[in-house]
Amino acid sequence: MLILISDAFDASLPGILSRFGEVTDDKSRLADAEIVLIRSKTKVTREYIDSAPRLRYVIRGGVGLDNVDVAYARTKGIKVDNTADASTTAVAELAFALMIALPNHIAAADASMRQGKWLKNELKRTELYGKTLGILGIGRIGLSLAVRARAFQMRVLGWHPDVYFTDFAEICPTMEEVLERSDYVSLHMPLVDSTRGIINKETLKRFKDGAYLINTGRGKCIVEQDVVDALKSGKLRGYATDVWNSDPPENSPLLGAPNTILTPHIGASTKENMIRIGIIVERLIEDYTAKK
Ligand code: NAD
Repeated sequence: MLILISDAFDASLPGILSRFGEVTDDKSRLADAEIVLIRSKTKVTREYIDSAPRLRYVIRGGVGLDNVDVAYARTKGIKVDNTADASTTAVAELAFALMIALPNHIAAADASMRQGKWLKNELKRTELYGKTLGILGIGRIGLSLAVRARAFQMRVLGWHPDVYFTDFAEICPTMEEVLERSDYVSLHMPLVDSTRGIINKETLKRFKDGAYLINTGRGKCIVEQDVVDALKSGKLRGYATDVWNSDPPENSPLLGAPNTILTPHIGASTKENMIRIGIIVERLIEDYTAKK
């Protein structure tokens, strides 16, 4: 059995998986691979699947399967799984880091010091304490962020199509209510038809003036140009994003927008998470081989 590791995983993984068969990172051997391990970079499209006649199992190290044509894979009898539980802490910590970096101007302060500037009077900070955080998508990561925000004595609101109560966030009946009451809005929904472009010029009107938006969910959940316009008008005081329309972004207007903090899709990239993902991948392959 050939296992192709197509994207970046922990360096220990090839050794761990070698008990199941041959492990390679040589993508030119896709045609011989029975199992392919991917993260975000490899796109398992119809063409990809058609060029892999021996493929029986695709495992995505991460949350979501939006880079896999799952429906087509199923028609070919290919099993598809992810490691959805592993990344919760890693992404929640990045979302929190971005939320605290925005009103403290950490990135701008650092850049200004390197330029020989002393902006002690210009860089006015605000505190998270007592502010309201609105979380769209109260799932694993959203709830994990809520717990952290509560520790900083923020008020936490959430909206979710079918969650009505949690211990950590007050669930509002509509997304608009969350937007209207929040000083910070953090996105944690999957990319599906109903969430594509959900933050756009119409929904941005519902935000508080001067609110902050944090996106560690999916880049396509926002309309980039509408967010840029909101930053320029001051409707949004800041936008921090880890996620993009494409990895890396191509001609994104966000790259030249004011009051942003931009990271290269590193939400899941902690050492600890890579080890957790490896453990789950090993268990999934163990299960797969046991049922063969
Ligand atoms: P999850 O499935 O536990 O939570 C997502 C929640 O959003 C679910 O409860 C779902 O029911 C809810 N939801 C679905 N449609 C919605 C809608 N229209 N409005 C509001 N909520 C809706 O997933 P999770 O583990 O918390 O991950 C959330 C998202 O984070 C993933 O789908 C992925 O897009 C993103 N993510 C990003 C990174 C990164 O590197 N930045 C890493 C992992 C996950």
